[in-house]
Amino acid sequence: MDVIGRAPKSEKGEYFRNNVWWWRPLWDYVETVAPDVVEGVSGHYNDGDGLDGEGAERLSQILMISLSDGTCEAYKKQYYAEMANLPNEECNLCNKTGIRTDEVGITHGMNTQELPEDKAIVLGRTHGTCNGCDGVGWKPNWGTHYPFETENVREFAEFLAESGGFSIC
Ligand SMILES: [Zn+2]
Repeated sequence: MDVIGRAPKSEKGEYFRNNVWWWRPLWDYVETVAPDVVEGVSGHYNDGDGLDGEGAERLSQILMISLSDGTCEAYKKQYYAEMANLPNEECNLCNKTGIRTDEVGITHGMNTQELPEDKAIVLGRTHGTCNGCDGVGWKPNWGTHYPFETENVREFAEFLAESGGFSIC
């Protein structure tokens, strides 16, 4: 997601960029701590929506306060605690077995590939792997791909303060 400053007061306010993995949790956080400010803004879509200068200023202040009073840090802890509880996802390339035996698997020799010693110990077998799950049979939950950091909130808040309003593109 590219967030463009509408009337930047400095270089910092021209542009803020988060890839989609970073943007989603950041905007979720914004909606959590400043629901009235961003009400009606379609922040999860890059369709040019955003806030005017006054709104961006208010949002920046709320985010900065949340950083200094510990709200953001607490949110992060909670966020990662919930992430740790997400169930693993079954690997459907190998049908949860850890050994891929479909056409692709056989073509690439995954079903007969010898495992390195350390992996053989963990997996309890000497041969056979899967490129979807590294031979384990399951993968981390999709939700674990979405990082959240207080520093990212700070960078966004600093951008907002200098942006003169913003559009999410
Ligand atoms: Zn697999």
